[in-house]
Amino acid sequence: MGVFGDAEAANLIYLGLHALQHRGQEGCGIVTHNQGNKKGDIKSDTRSDINGGESRFEVHKAFGLVADSVTHDVIAKLTGDSGIGHVRYSTQGGRLVQNIQPFFFRTSIGPIAIAHNGNLTNAAKIRQDLESSGSIFQSTSDTEVFVHLIARSRAATLRERIAEVMPMVNGAYSLVILAEEALFAVRDPFGFRPLVLGKRGEATVVASETCALDLIDADYLREVEPGEVVEISATGMKSFSPIPKKSSAFCAFEPIYFARPDSKIFGDEIYTMRRQMGVVLAKEAPAVADVVIAIPDSGVPMAIGYAAASGIPLELGLVRNHYVGRTFIEPTQAIRDFGVKLKLNPSRAVLAGKRVVVVDDSLVRGTTSAKILRMLRAAGAVEIHFRIGSPPITHSCFYGVDTPRRRQLLAAQKNVDQIREIIGADSLAFLSIEGLKSALGPARSGSYCFACFNGNYQENIHQDVVGQPTDGKGPGLRSGLGSR
Ligand code: 5GP
Ligand code: MG
Repeated sequence: MGVFGDAEAANLIYLGLHALQHRGQEGCGIVTHNQGNKKGDIKSDTRSDINGGESRFEVHKAFGLVADSVTHDVIAKLTGDSGIGHVRYSTQGGRLVQNIQPFFFRTSIGPIAIAHNGNLTNAAKIRQDLESSGSIFQSTSDTEVFVHLIARSRAATLRERIAEVMPMVNGAYSLVILAEEALFAVRDPFGFRPLVLGKRGEATVVASETCALDLIDADYLREVEPGEVVEISATGMKSFSPIPKKSSAFCAFEPIYFARPDSKIFGDEIYTMRRQMGVVLAKEAPAVADVVIAIPDSGVPMAIGYAAASGIPLELGLVRNHYVGRTFIEPTQAIRDFGVKLKLNPSRAVLAGKRVVVVDDSLVRGTTSAKILRMLRAAGAVEIHFRIGSPPITHSCFYGVDTPRRRQLLAAQKNVDQIREIIGADSLAFLSIEGLKSALGPARSGSYCFACFNGNYQENIHQDVVGQPTDGKGPGLRSGLGSR
């Protein structure tokens, strides 16, 4: 999230990060820039002060949710009329405070802050090269290579430095970069991750999803284009295309799961596409049943589509507790399913004696699904027809979704009937890739990346990923429990 040209920058970013919280719950940060008023006006906190008080940056970073870690006092300290913010969900780099973004650093052309959505596929290689020529890294995050490459460039302006670095990095990056005089919005040439531009009066807003614009009453302008650099400064907004646009590879998992259903990204409404996935699923995989239920919250739009297309009534079969945060209690054998029960409770009134279609958005490891289906049976469901609104995930993502390694991906190891058996359903079906494409819109589907479903990665992946060291924490979903 980025804001340029509003005296309430910190507040607007704070609100926007709330709207984007679903994109990462591990940590968050905000950096603001204050033009300062007169030379020599040095404020008390010099932690990130530069140029003797002419202008200054304020930095806040912490683990946890925005609501918990950004307090009133923090906002009061984050003065300035421009800023950027980030919520973290780690795909590379472990749970270290140094990995929380934005990164703030000083270069020969002034201080710069950067926040990154995505995942670079050649970060490990670049890092090795830089380290062998003397660079010292502070974090284990792939994002830090941008910092080093920008800092080492000899180009005179930040815009030229960004243009120089873009062809050097591969993979997914939607970036906001804050400097003293400008805010930059940058998107990789494939456009894997979304990035949208908005206007709020005179101020310009950049965000991962339009739901952040909605919250702060900003008007949606357009997407930052793949391969585009937008420079936002006091003189207005300028667009550059330093790198040729490739054929787009928008992440299909954004409309399936990741983005909020009230957002418009990649030029389309998420709700419309997600509901349509359920409609197509009902046509591809009908079931004879009494009710359709969703696994909330992520399965809801697809269940609505499935129910509408099948004519089977949609009921609230699982009630979600929205007050459960992270739980530190490890479920023991004696209270198995505790984690799932804490979040979801089946409704006997809906389920007892019923043949039930259960709709979820995706199946990753199958562990959450198996627990939920057990609960549904215990609550009286007599038949369970499990329907997944996306194709089987058979390949890891290297572009910013933290899918586990292949051996933990259930659909990479087992066929549909084996999965049905493991999770305990009477029948199981996934949306086909063709069905997914039709739900995305036949005209648009050619612009999407389906690598997690078919292994067709974009260029460079083989040299980039083969031999890439893991960070030791092991890849995987943040919690075994689907968080949405
Ligand atoms: P499974 O049954 O495979 O263990 O979990 C499936 C659930 O995980 C689905 O409800 C889906 O919404 C959720 N899910 C999909 N991708 C992610 C992710 O990246 N992080 C988390 N926490 N949950 C996810
Ligand atoms: Mg879910």
